[in-house]
Amino acid sequence: MKSSLAKILYSTILTFSISTIVGLIFKSNFWYVFVLTTISQVIGFLILNQIYTNRLKQSLEMIKADQLREQNRNYVNVVCPCNEKSVQLVDIRFDTKPQYTCNKCNKQVSCEASVRTFTVTSPVYFGKDNG
Ligand SMILES: [Zn+2]
Repeated sequence: MKSSLAKILYSTILTFSISTIVGLIFKSNFWYVFVLTTISQVIGFLILNQIYTNRLKQSLEMIKADQLREQNRNYVNVVCPCNEKSVQLVDIRFDTKPQYTCNKCNKQVSCEASVRTFTVTSPVYFGKDNG
């Protein structure tokens, strides 16, 4: 709280200092130039702030989209042991034991992911080029 007040005070002093310097360059119309410089600094700050905020929002949206994509990658359709027809989308993770509540029987169901292995085969082509 104290640091934000100090920042506001610092920016205000800096803004008025710049306005004073610019005003002193045009001594004949000091107050006119002073007010004009102050207003243009405030407007410039607002525009830059808006651009910065928009960029921040955009990157936040991208992070959210990435997060959602990562989450969706782990979703698997599982069948509840109570009823063959109760198929539910469950977030399967390997770092924790996945558990979910069945929509139909309202029981806690624990999931165990099993991994199947296959030998990778390289296909052999008998096209015209390979003879
Ligand atoms: Zn069930």
